[in-house]
Amino acid sequence: MSVSALIVVDIQNDFLPGGSLAVPHGDEIIQPVIKLMEDPNRKWHRIILTRDWHTSDHISFARTHKKPDFSPITYHSVIPDDNATQEGTLWPVHCVQQTHGAQLADAIADEQKKLGCRIVDKGYLSDREYYSAFSDIWNYHRTELNNYLDSHHITDVYVVGLALDFCVKHTALSAAKRGYNTYILKDYTRAIHSDPESMKALEKELKENNVQLI
Ligand SMILES: [Zn+2]
Repeated sequence: MSVSALIVVDIQNDFLPGGSLAVPHGDEIIQPVIKLMEDPNRKWHRIILTRDWHTSDHISFARTHKKPDFSPITYHSVIPDDNATQEGTLWPVHCVQQTHGAQLADAIADEQKKLGCRIVDKGYLSDREYYSAFSDIWNYHRTELNNYLDSHHITDVYVVGLALDFCVKHTALSAAKRGYNTYILKDYTRAIHSDPESMKALEKELKENNVQLI
């Protein structure tokens, strides 16, 4: 028997038009996502809303390094005795804890209260970048998401939200790696890079890692 969870990723003011790291057309998914949350045919056993939830000096902010926004950066592993590195991008300051930009979009926040959905925060340790709602980029610090899904015997995970090519993608890749049947519902996402070439590469990566884009 399949038991499904819906994960709504980072529909926060800073990722919406007018926000500091806006995903183009991100606002278009708000009402459809609310309908999806309420859809009786979907039989969601649990709905989880995630938030990027940074300290003001977060390592992913260009300001922290006194560099221009969108500069490249090489991150060094936070795992003791691990010399691994990962290439990343320095972002404009976004989703700082307790600020307006970090709040869920009003309509999504209202829905969260109405349905009593669980909120899972990520990004709150200042020394490491996070994309997945399951863990930091080193898969070292884990959020409570996996335990929460496990404790509710979830088998199938559906991921929607912002941005398709960053936090939605990485949350879905993490879920598939942890053994959930994993789907991204494309119409309920928007990407930062939505040109045909980027989308093609994304589709390939998801397919190779057992995530179904439907
Ligand atoms: Zn962030």
